[in-house]
Amino acid sequence: MSLLRDLGGLARGFGVTLRTFFRPPVTLRYPEQRPALAGRHRGRHELQRHENGLEKCVGCELCALVCPADAIYVEGAENPKAEPVSIGERYAKTYTINMLRCIFCGLCVEACPTEALQMKGEFELTGADRRSLIFTKERLVAPRPTSAPDDSWMPS
Ligand code: SF4
Ligand code: SF4
Repeated sequence: MSLLRDLGGLARGFGVTLRTFFRPPVTLRYPEQRPALAGRHRGRHELQRHENGLEKCVGCELCALVCPADAIYVEGAENPKAEPVSIGERYAKTYTINMLRCIFCGLCVEACPTEALQMKGEFELTGADRRSLIFTKERLVAPRPTSAPDDSWMPS
């Protein structure tokens, strides 16, 4: 009786092995093959710009306040009228994210009132030393738009 039970168990076990053997693999030959990321994947942060090149961030520090990992440091300053950096009265003079602390929860993105902060698909965040993983503003801010903004709506 127990021999029959053991044989039944063996047959079921081999059945699972056979079924799995003919299934396509779920692993990828990374890094040659890249995974298809979900549309809302939360990768590294990027500070956005307006079409005219000005930064969306107004240095309000809300993102730093809500961050549960204390990963963000923002120092706001008066926006220079002659050469404005953002469209607000203030801008982020200093902006850093410590990627070693970040848990990619996305709370900073939700808190941002100007939609300046977004999380992009980049997930390969390694570095040779700890300092290289503290991203400064220069690394976080998006490049300036290459084409001229459409300002035809503006009164001449
Ligand atoms: S994703 Fe979360 S942990 Fe990372 S910087 Fe934003 S609020 Fe902080
Ligand atoms: S990224 Fe958004 S929340 Fe953070 S300082 Fe800039 S405007 Fe404020």
